[in-house]
This record gives sequence, C-alpha cells and structure tokens, in this order.
Amino acid sequence: MVSKEMYELGSKRSVIRDLFEYGMQQAAIVGRENVFDFSIGNPTVPAPECVKETMLKLLETSKSQEIHGYTSAQGDFEVRKGLAEYMNNTYNCQLKADNFYITCGAAASLTITLKALTKHPEEDEFIIIAPYFPEYKVFIKNAGAKVVVVPADTENFQIKMDSLEKAITPNTKGIIINSPNNPSGVVYSEKTLNDLANLLKKKSEEYNKPLYLISDEPYREIVYDDIQIPYIPAYYENTIICYSYSKSLSLPGERLGYILVPESVENDKDIYTAVCGAGRSLGYVCAPSMFQKVVLGCLGKTSDVALYDTNRKLLYDGLNNMGYECVKPNGAFYLFVKSLEENAVNFSENAKTFNLLVVPADDFGCPGYVRISYCVDPEMIKRSFDAFQKLKDLY
Ligand code: PLP
Repeated sequence: MVSKEMYELGSKRSVIRDLFEYGMQQAAIVGRENVFDFSIGNPTVPAPECVKETMLKLLETSKSQEIHGYTSAQGDFEVRKGLAEYMNNTYNCQLKADNFYITCGAAASLTITLKALTKHPEEDEFIIIAPYFPEYKVFIKNAGAKVVVVPADTENFQIKMDSLEKAITPNTKGIIINSPNNPSGVVYSEKTLNDLANLLKKKSEEYNKPLYLISDEPYREIVYDDIQIPYIPAYYENTIICYSYSKSLSLPGERLGYILVPESVENDKDIYTAVCGAGRSLGYVCAPSMFQKVVLGCLGKTSDVALYDTNRKLLYDGLNNMGYECVKPNGAFYLFVKSLEENAVNFSENAKTFNLLVVPADDFGCPGYVRISYCVDPEMIKRSFDAFQKLKDLY
C-alpha cells in the first residue's frame, strides 16, 4: 500500500531518539534529577536577546502580511541581501543575494543540494567521512544517489586523505564535510583543508569534471579557544555551503538555514537554478517568513558559547581524570569517548543501568565510541560523575 523504503524509515526510530524516550520513561520512575541524559543535541543555551527583541519589533511595527505572508520561493530578497553583506564583511568575499537560497534548516539545505546535484540516480556517488551525521545517508538515498563512506581517522579525527583518494571514482559527484563535527566535536585543521582542496583539485583534473564539496556548517560559530571557522570556498572554489540557525541562534524548532552557491562554483547558475527546482520539487519553498526577518535582525549574533565551553571543560576534565579516553573537542557540543569495550552498543546498555544515557557511535560510522552531548545543565554533569565512575568500575 505504501512505499517500502519510506515505511521502514518511518517505523525505525534513531538510536538517539530511542535513548531520549527511554530517559523520559526512566525520569518518571526514578526522578528527573537521577537520569543523566546525554543523548540529544538540543541547544540548552537560550537564544540571544536580539531574537526576542526583533520578534517584538516585527510584531509591533509590521503588517500581518509582511511578516506572515509568502516570501519569494528562494527567500525574501532583503534578507538574502543582508546575508550576502554580512558574509562579505565577515569573510571578505563577494556574494550577492542571488547566491543564497533560504531553507528550513540544514536538513533541508542538504536534501535540496543533494537532489539538485544528482544527475544520474543509481550512478552518482556522494562521499561522507566517518564519523558522520547519520541522516546524510537518508538524504543521499532520497536523491537517488549512492553513499560512499570513508572510514574514520581514529587517531585525530581529521580526514584520512589516502582513504578519501581511493573512495573518489569517476561517479563521484560530491563530498560532504562537517566541521565542527557532530559527533566528534573536532574542527578540521588548516592542513586538512589545504590537503582536501589539493586532493579534490587533482581528482577533478584527473576525471575532467567538477567534484563538489558540500560543507555542512550548523556549528560554524560554536567553537572554543579562539578558533575561527574559515570560509571554505576560499580553500576550494567548488564549495556549496549548507548552513542552519538551529545551533548558532538556538532556534532548532524554527527551522531556518540557507544554501550558499558562490559564483566561484563551476556551473554556479545552473546549480542555483537546480537548487530552486529541488526546493520546489521537495516542497521546501518560502522558509518560515517571520524567522527569515528575525535572522536578518540578528546577523553576527550567536547564543552564549561560553556556557557550552564551561560544560566542555567540566566533562572533558572529569572523564579524563577518571581514565576515560576522550577526543578533545574544539567545536560543537559533543564529546566523543572511547567505549570501554569493543562493542559500544553493549557499553551504552551498561551505562543505562546507572541511568547514564550515551549514544553508541555505530550509526555515526564509528563503532567503538560513544557520543556525549553536553548541551545540558552543568549541574547534571556534576551529578553524573558518580555514575560514570561506577560504569568505569565495571570494566
Ligand atoms: N547537520 C548536522 C551535522 C547536524 O548535527 C544537524 C542537527 O543536529 C543537522 C545537519 C540538521 O540541522 P537542522 O536542525 O538545521 O535541520
């Protein structure tokens, strides 16, 4: 009666969602304060004041139709112009309103971009680099293309360039990167970006076709220790940026982001037109109208990253001192921890016996690790140490 693939997708909950639901059930039994839920990446730092201020101003000064009506399918022109000016001032680039397509968050940005780029379903391949955001596989399959996985560099969680080189074939259409990374929390180094750009240029020449780099950047501003995420098209011209305000402005439920197709991208006009077509075909036209204007009023603002930094230090130091092997995160709000047994699913099950909810990284393409999401109350982190110690003592 219905699509088999869609039915399967709808009936199978993600591991993260499963743990989150389990946490809520446990909270009802043992009390919320005794459950240490590190499963989900829902921002806990409030949206910056400018969000509320802009909303109030818009509500008080604009006509209903101006804030709640349809905008252009690709997003309000003034908002896109504002985005271009902000990016030009911040990254010294030359963008225009028509390089931007406003979307319902990074999920829509990626789904649209992949659909727009896939010319030969069944043949075109997109490469993802472990550990990766599990939904990439869903989005690539939705476009009809094939998923190719490059295994994780478990030494420093950058990119194994030799493995990436082997993964690139004449059918490769694009490569998705995500830095700061979910789930590892790692930011790609200058060397990684240069090596990646050189490899992609070499392979594009070899196969005489553009290889598109899709930079998924929902955590671009969530960085620590004075790190700054550069403008990736400055390293590699054929870069399309998929952005979201879900994390930077703590607005995941408002569904807002954009696709940026700079002019440096080969066939940029055709790609932008195909992006508009894919948006139309997927029903992702006219992203939430009022929130388009809210982000225009908040350009350059972010939620208070210092609060995440406090959690990062607390958790990283606490677990390291207990003898857990953790990857030092310099972005996003995740800590990637080596499981104390080979099977991270078993390890996560054992953690549950102490009401400690950590996500096995198998679905992120990196078995043997768990992801700890630290966008939580710092008091919960402090209370959780006893449970982490008991878990450690099991091994
Ligand atoms: N990409 C990555 C790496 C993410 O972590 C997420 C959400 O957690 C998304 C994309 C989807 O973001 P959005 O809520 O903006 O659709």
